[in-house]
Amino acid sequence: MSETIFTKILNREIPADIVHEDDLCLAFNDINPQAPVHFLVIPKKPIATINDISEADREVVGHLTMVAAKVAKEMGIDQEGYRTVMNCNEFGGQSVYHIHLHVLGGKLLGWPLT
Ligand code: 5GP
Repeated sequence: MSETIFTKILNREIPADIVHEDDLCLAFNDINPQAPVHFLVIPKKPIATINDISEADREVVGHLTMVAAKVAKEMGIDQEGYRTVMNCNEFGGQSVYHIHLHVLGGKLLGWPLT
């Protein structure tokens, strides 16, 4: 797959407000937050979309959710609650083709989506 802006963030070629890093993933605040708390958890391995996840990615994809919960707790939004979202392709609203888990919180979020 072609390189995305998230590869540049992983390689420290462009800055990001990083909130977590480990062997498998990086988490950083979204540049255009849609809620008081809005960060992204991305695998270090570039996977374009949810459709491209393979059996070999089972561990890393599960790990993204574990990290989302850990960072949400550190940010103090775990008890009131938050939302995780992974958009896929055009109708899902995906704009960066390197999978990422959005974590949104800090306010009462609307549902259902329009
Ligand atoms: P998507 O639309 O693909 O689900 O989400 C991509 C997200 O990446 C958007 O919320 C967008 O604001 C965020 N984003 C795009 N470029 C950058 C960047 O250079 N830095 C950071 N921190 N976030 C970005």
